[in-house]
Amino acid sequence: MNSENCIFCSIVKGKKLADIIYETERAIAFKDIRPKAPIHILVIPKKHIPTLNDITPDHQDLIGELFIIVKEIAKQLGIAENGYRAVFNCNQDAGQEIYHIHLHMLGGRQFSWPPG
Ligand code: 5GP
Ligand code: ZN
Repeated sequence: MNSENCIFCSIVKGKKLADIIYETERAIAFKDIRPKAPIHILVIPKKHIPTLNDITPDHQDLIGELFIIVKEIAKQLGIAENGYRAVFNCNQDAGQEIYHIHLHMLGGRQFSWPPG
């Protein structure tokens, strides 16, 4: 999957609708279309990066920014104290479905550990 046929690049370009709740110069956050928890937000870089395996030291600030956004959203949505989970899935074994990196932010219920 390249940026031309990437669903998340389409959302970044405004060609596909999404419920965007947060935006910075380099990233956006929007609601997951099939939420796995009462709160399920995806935080993505605007730049097309297929998997975590493709990040380089040049992306260090960008990846850090995604976590800062998660923290801000958790505060805004009132789940910072109760807690939440923030996770990247990488490739097949982790169940990655969309090959444009996205940080899942899940909250609003209790999660089990380890994940299935
Ligand atoms: P992955 O399995 O790749 O880590 O997660 C992909 C996530 O993207 C899934 O939770 C899925 O529900 C979500 N998703 C897939 N297509 C769309 C879409 O078109 N819009 C939105 N908002 N979420 C999507
Ligand atoms: Zn993309």
